[in-house]
Amino acid sequence: MENFKEPTSVTLGDNIMNQLNRKVNRRSFLMAASTAVAAGTLSIPTTQAASQGSSRKNGMKIKDLKIVVTTPGSNSGWNWIFVKIETDSGIYGWGEASLQEKDAGVIAELKSFKKFLIGQDPLRIEHIWTSLHRRVTWTGGPVTMSAISAIDLALWDIKGKAFGVPVYELLGGKVHDKIKMYANGWFKYGNSPEDFARAAKEVVGKGYKAMKLYPFPGVQVITPERLELGVARVQAVREAVGPHIEVGVDIRNALNIWGARRVAHKLEPMDIMFMEEPILYDNSTTLVELAREVRVPIAVGERLYTRWEFREILEKNAVDIIQPDICHAGGLSELKKIAAMAETYYVTLAPHNSNGPISTIASLHLDMMINNCFMQEYILRFEDRYNEMLTRPIEVIDGYCTPPEGPGWGVDLREDVIAKYPPKNYNPVSSGDVF
Ligand SMILES: [Mg+2]
Repeated sequence: MENFKEPTSVTLGDNIMNQLNRKVNRRSFLMAASTAVAAGTLSIPTTQAASQGSSRKNGMKIKDLKIVVTTPGSNSGWNWIFVKIETDSGIYGWGEASLQEKDAGVIAELKSFKKFLIGQDPLRIEHIWTSLHRRVTWTGGPVTMSAISAIDLALWDIKGKAFGVPVYELLGGKVHDKIKMYANGWFKYGNSPEDFARAAKEVVGKGYKAMKLYPFPGVQVITPERLELGVARVQAVREAVGPHIEVGVDIRNALNIWGARRVAHKLEPMDIMFMEEPILYDNSTTLVELAREVRVPIAVGERLYTRWEFREILEKNAVDIIQPDICHAGGLSELKKIAAMAETYYVTLAPHNSNGPISTIASLHLDMMINNCFMQEYILRFEDRYNEMLTRPIEVIDGYCTPPEGPGWGVDLREDVIAKYPPKNYNPVSSGDVF
């Protein structure tokens, strides 16, 4: 890891901790401990050794928070915002706070949080998260929660590096060997059903087993023409990819309940994996009515924040799949909790991920350690830029991916590359169509 500094003063306790944390198996740990005892070098109980290792790391302090803004590319309507938290030990961590057109708001929030963060122990992630979220008068919402999410992610990267293990090891370890990716951002030829079918075949040709599309652009009222064209697009994709590829339909909360019912009924014979955000996210009662009436799985969550906002849709059994975003809903700490809540309702996760490379890497670490991960969203049109900015590439093989191995996220951002792509100014309010 470039710029990652190994501890310079290593104690016996640290050596034992490193072996534990590197997940060498229990047997090799015991062998190492017994060897140390035989050599007369292990004179303190392992619990005490662990305590000494922790206390050394607990001396670390946050020194700085830097905000790095860049453009994902010429065809994107927003920037990526990265957060780099630096410590006095030399270890730093990366988070991401990309909030599409709301750069100014989230950057201001990050700057205000920085005043609290300087001097804090970066390993006290839960304390810092709760302080930023609960110890202020005004909290919640996309701006504040995206700032908290980015800080949370950077702190987990620091913690993984400090203990010398991948982040997923810190919160339970792997429950999957690999994560199924569902492709987004792949429709490149045009808007006809034939265009969608051609592009979908190419996605399958790359090995993907799942994808989603936006076949019903427009807002609120669905006309017969829009309904017919949208259904034809989904039908064309289903026929092109066959019955064994998962196909999702993202409505982007563009419909009213009348339109959502009509669309859902038309989609029922096509065996879609989900109908995403059929209506606006802020009325769970209406969502429940729709979900009980139609025979398509409903997915929502990219615009919900924290466990408190997910509580209601889970308690009402409003959805089959939730899609929290690790850059918006509260970071890795919060998504782990949201996943556990969802598991008690037999609801699965397909984490939303429309942002940059840290969002993608952090999501993969989350996915690896939650039982109820269904699949992971992945934007194909960003892949080249992701891999240009990362020190090692994201590799999707036969439709599956794993996070990079190594301390923290297991990968670093290339600031020299990021500097080549300065941010752009975007209009914070789009007009006309929803996308
Ligand atoms: Mg969506």
